[in-house]
Amino acid sequence: MHDRSNELAAWDRDHFFHPSTHMGTHARGETPTRVIGGGEGVYITDTAGRTSLDAFAGLYCVNVGYGRQKIADAIAAQAKDLAYYHAYVGHGTEASIRLAKMIIDRAPEGMSRVYFGLSGSDANETNIKLIWYYNNVLGRPEKKKIISRWRGYHGSGVMTGSLTGLDLFHNAFDLPRAPVLHTEAPYYFRRADRSMSEEQFSQHCADRLEEMILAEGPDTVAAFIGEPILGTGGIVPPPAGYWDKIQAVLRKYDVLLVADEVVTGFGRLGTMFGSDHYGIRPDLITIAKGLTSAYAPLSGVIVSDKVWQVLVQGSDRLGSIGHGWTYAAHPICAAAGVANLELIDEMNLVKNAGETGLYFRTELSNALSGHRNVGDVRGDGLLAAVEFVEDRDDRKFFDASRKIGPQVAAALLERGVIGRAMPQGDILGFAPPLCLTREEADIVVGRTAEAVNAVFTDR
Ligand code: PLP
Repeated sequence: MHDRSNELAAWDRDHFFHPSTHMGTHARGETPTRVIGGGEGVYITDTAGRTSLDAFAGLYCVNVGYGRQKIADAIAAQAKDLAYYHAYVGHGTEASIRLAKMIIDRAPEGMSRVYFGLSGSDANETNIKLIWYYNNVLGRPEKKKIISRWRGYHGSGVMTGSLTGLDLFHNAFDLPRAPVLHTEAPYYFRRADRSMSEEQFSQHCADRLEEMILAEGPDTVAAFIGEPILGTGGIVPPPAGYWDKIQAVLRKYDVLLVADEVVTGFGRLGTMFGSDHYGIRPDLITIAKGLTSAYAPLSGVIVSDKVWQVLVQGSDRLGSIGHGWTYAAHPICAAAGVANLELIDEMNLVKNAGETGLYFRTELSNALSGHRNVGDVRGDGLLAAVEFVEDRDDRKFFDASRKIGPQVAAALLERGVIGRAMPQGDILGFAPPLCLTREEADIVVGRTAEAVNAVFTDR
């Protein structure tokens, strides 16, 4: 067969504008093109025949694992029957209607309707518009500001990139834009004063939030958005008592809570939703990734009954809601979602995420905690991170220009395992498919220990 790899690499360099990629080094061919051709379970294979254990499930999204026939069949059947019809003015397909019901059946208490989108970013855009509409219907036109957290990740759009609290997503894009504000990141390891207990640090975060609401004026603050566990900002579980204390402040000032469950929805923490896991009672929930395990692009906003009742009043007064995407509730994506949620149940993946996640994190901690350059090993469910430091005792961080995190991720890839160098800080992240076995977890841990030793011995 004709070997097309050089030709493809050239086309890639010359024509493909990749997301989250260094444009110059890639276009000049200084960084490699990797063309992925197949996947099975937790493994992917590139067209050069190299196989890697994907311990980040793509971008924490291929939760059921690669190559699941059931989902491929559902997509093919839907494409043959009806590839597309829109969802405007009350239209639907059996797949989109069934999927909405399946989501509400699995959602935390008090949830009522699902608004479908295509990506986590557009679902968060929907959230913001619904929140503004809600306050207009309630006659509170000033109550529009949204509070997010430093190190939160909520997407890359104009508004959602503003909600995101990471420098890379703001720099040179003129973000964040008003009316978005950022409060303290719940990052005990980096942010807490050494004298503080976790509970005290959580109180400190809640106090900062309350100060911000009071300084801005409670009548101007509409909502707070947060991931149950910080994801792209460093995979940081909330410190003890954090969500209780934050929610008490939000209730006091009548501020809506959006739980961004794009990563945590559908099992990653060993519970169906992260909100169940941490005792969060959201007014709106963002879902994406795990909804279809990325077999097709689909996202959603789960709207609570409390918010829904107000939206309906608005519609009775103002008419149809002026918000829609051509591909909202796309039938092929909805069919993928139905098959995916069924598979999660059939394979018992939520339970496995909890059990194998605990095993994986314990082994990771046992293997690495003693290392002088490992400052923290943390996580929850099947989410884990290792944070590297120059000096463990002084909690001294490496200068970002040394790119220690990317070096460890590269050394790990050389050993056949994909972890992710998180974008801010020297943090190696793991979010494997929820079907991970103990044997596969052992491989990830063993290769990570080798990679860490290689990077720090070679320095
Ligand atoms: N919210 C969270 C918590 C995410 O992790 C992400 C993506 O990683 C998004 C939103 C944005 O999703 P998308 O990349 O599908 O726009």
